[in-house]
Amino acid sequence: MGKALIIGCGGVASVAIHKCCQNSDEFQEIMIASRTKSKCDALKEKLENTTKTKISTAQVDANNVDELIELINGFKPDVVLNLALPYQDLTIMDACLATKTSYVDTANYEPEDTAKFEYKWQWAYREKFKEAGITALLGSGFDPGVTGVFSAYALKHEFDEINYIDILDCNGGDHGYPFATNFNPEINIREVSANGSYWEDGHFIETKPMEIKREYNFDQVGMKDMYLLHHEELESLGINIPGIKRIRFFMTFGESYLTYLKCLEDVGMTSIEPIEFEGKQIVPLQFLKAVLPDPATLGPRTVGKTNIGCIFQGKKDGKDKTYYLYNVCDHQECYKEVGSQAVSYTTGVPAMIGAMLIMNGTWKGPGVFNIEEFDPDPFMDALNKWGLPWIESFNPEMVP
Ligand code: NDP
Repeated sequence: MGKALIIGCGGVASVAIHKCCQNSDEFQEIMIASRTKSKCDALKEKLENTTKTKISTAQVDANNVDELIELINGFKPDVVLNLALPYQDLTIMDACLATKTSYVDTANYEPEDTAKFEYKWQWAYREKFKEAGITALLGSGFDPGVTGVFSAYALKHEFDEINYIDILDCNGGDHGYPFATNFNPEINIREVSANGSYWEDGHFIETKPMEIKREYNFDQVGMKDMYLLHHEELESLGINIPGIKRIRFFMTFGESYLTYLKCLEDVGMTSIEPIEFEGKQIVPLQFLKAVLPDPATLGPRTVGKTNIGCIFQGKKDGKDKTYYLYNVCDHQECYKEVGSQAVSYTTGVPAMIGAMLIMNGTWKGPGVFNIEEFDPDPFMDALNKWGLPWIESFNPEMVP
């Protein structure tokens, strides 16, 4: 039993908070703190009569370390779960260090003015966290997150050596809008409009955006086009999975999404360079975010399923082996349960599980860790228990 401070109150946080409240045996008390306090209060009001978890709320600017320290010192949580944006990772880690509080997030740090995400900034905190006797768990969403847990599980139980991993992220959902993003539009568009890359023989090989396209027949979704993207777990899995030769990440996109994205890019709307507009500096991508549908509102209108998982290829007892671990999640089922679509759900559930395992000491540091560095078994059990059951295939279709 413990206390968690949850920072952010958007799409992913809302699911994680619902799940903490379902899991009140572990989450005795939570505080929801975000930039817009009214969102925290509305969620508290919705949930407080449905749970034994005691909920409080606060306003915080997570870019401000002193404000965060004051908040943490006042509430004294066992863990801080960062579900704000990647820009806030380092300020929140600084506040955790100052207050000796453990830290969990779902996305690695990205400076606001350069669309480049890497672990180097957060890995630089390893010694400091170790000395302070606290743990940071990085990337406890689905991808990164469950994909790393799946990799650790495959290595522990199914392989002597894993040589190839293909991570496949399929969203077969339809929200009925010509163009909308399933999570924060700014973060999402920065990710998909960047160059792609994959990890091979110890280094990254860069590709043009959307240069590599494959088709795959996904269980319970069907045939989809998918494109190779750079993704943050490639960096940590490339180091943490011994014997690995290649890791690729593919995400499905529909024709319509890509056509709109190309058009928005061509006219400059996805740029993060500030421009002058009517005497004011604005960032085109931030303006675009303001006119696009809020991902939190997609829940009621999204139908279909997601299918996300990893295909492994390697050796067991001297023989070649392939193995596929994945989860299928239904948008409408998620909406009925927690009022959100499956993209927020598949991220919010693992965020709750990661925070729980750090809070109750099942996973212990001290130091800064990527999720695949811990024993995957308790996390795999919790996925089945908390709404993201996994499916195994011992004879999967491979990606060419
Ligand atoms: P949202 O934009 O819906 O929510 C972000 C929340 O953070 C909002 O409540 C926002 O406040 C709050 N926030 C932003 N800046 C600050 C600040 N300076 N101080 C305090 N609060 C702040 O994003 P999502 O819920 O879609 O995504 C949350 C995180 O999850 C992101 O880091 C994203 O990259 C990650 N993610 C990870 C995935 C994975 O599988 N690993 C998949 C999907 C997302 P306000 O309400 O005022 O805007």
